[in-house]
Amino acid sequence: MLRNSFAAHIRSEYEHAAKDCVTCETKGACCLDAHFVNVRITRLEAVAIMSEINSLPTEKREAVRERISDAVERFGLDDAAESVGRTYACPLFERQSGCLVHETAKPLPCIAHACYERKEDLPPESLLDELEAKVCELSRRTYSSAAFTRSLPAALKKLF
Ligand code: SF4
Ligand code: SF4
Repeated sequence: MLRNSFAAHIRSEYEHAAKDCVTCETKGACCLDAHFVNVRITRLEAVAIMSEINSLPTEKREAVRERISDAVERFGLDDAAESVGRTYACPLFERQSGCLVHETAKPLPCIAHACYERKEDLPPESLLDELEAKVCELSRRTYSSAAFTRSLPAALKKLF
């Protein structure tokens, strides 16, 4: 699967040069910084994430859905065109356990992201761009015009 092989490649080739998230003193800042996070996903990725959310116990599932709706409203993400470039605090981050879909359906930009001391240690942007283009094409073939990227909370809310 594309996502898994990308994650394995980033892990083996780049992450050793990045700061260790386990010992990070600002854990989750990268996911909750409402001025920084602007992850956009395709319908294909949204469906994979929703399937994980739907498999949660009822109470937890409803809490996540509420956070998603709240993020869409709070950060003005409903309108696909107007929300391009808008940032938000990610509703999938949990204080206790971190990213809710870390192992299962983590979006590609999140897989590529880490805190690097030296700019030259970062994975090249072209790696992510190429894979995003492939996933976008897969999503387009599967979902037609509904496939184009939206901010993560808005893409998930569309599937409620
Ligand atoms: S990506 Fe950076 S800010 Fe986020 S948990 Fe890892 S070290 Fe901390
Ligand atoms: S999807 Fe996961 S890794 Fe990405 S911003 Fe949200 S909580 Fe963080």
